[in-house]
Amino acid sequence: MKNNKKIIAANWKMNGSEELMKEFSQLTPPKHNDVIICPPFTLLDSAKTLLPNFIKIGAQNCSEEDNGAFTGEISATMLRDSHVSYVIIGHSERRTLYRETDTVILKKVESVIKNELTPIVCIGETLSEKKANKTLEVLEKQIDASITRVNTHTRLIVAYEPIWAIGTGLTPNEYEIRETHLHIKKKLNLHFNIDVPVLYGGSANAENCSKILSVENVDGLLVGGASLKKHDFEMICNC
Ligand code: PEP
Repeated sequence: MKNNKKIIAANWKMNGSEELMKEFSQLTPPKHNDVIICPPFTLLDSAKTLLPNFIKIGAQNCSEEDNGAFTGEISATMLRDSHVSYVIIGHSERRTLYRETDTVILKKVESVIKNELTPIVCIGETLSEKKANKTLEVLEKQIDASITRVNTHTRLIVAYEPIWAIGTGLTPNEYEIRETHLHIKKKLNLHFNIDVPVLYGGSANAENCSKILSVENVDGLLVGGASLKKHDFEMICNC
């Protein structure tokens, strides 16, 4: 996806069903945005069969290894063979609940890129880090440790997801989003010498999507809760 369209990516997390996928198969192509749906692993096959072609399919995680004795894991190689194009890496839920470190995230990003898929790498600060005015410092550290070490010239998307905004109904104001995206974009573009799309994620919904998407350097949205309701998601896709 390399054009001027915004990217609307759905993170279904551990939700969804064959029924929901059938509902989403009725989505019509939005004029101004590209759409990615990241269902749980078990629904990747139905996504491929049921979703219209304009929707690209993503996974929510992968192993840093290619194959081997890693019970319960799924590699980027396997995802590539399952017609997945994108993989969310380093979501804050994985960082916190599954203790994924920047080092592990870097390895996963490398594996995804090596397998010719596009990583959507999540970064974001906690509420206490925000309150301590450490947002940019935290993001810089995450970018340095898990993104700029990677060797890529093409495939990379970054999602700025303030942890305190995920699933809470809270969002940063437009000024905060503008400042943060500008900072992230400058750093990434300078390092990689390409335009790296930076998505915003955290309580984006049908009501606030236009406002957020109109902020400078917001190249799209990563949507959790609101991506599970077809009507709402369709509205966001048409923002
Ligand atoms: C997410 O978890 O990536 C997310 C953005 O969730 P929500 O939209 O529900 O805040």
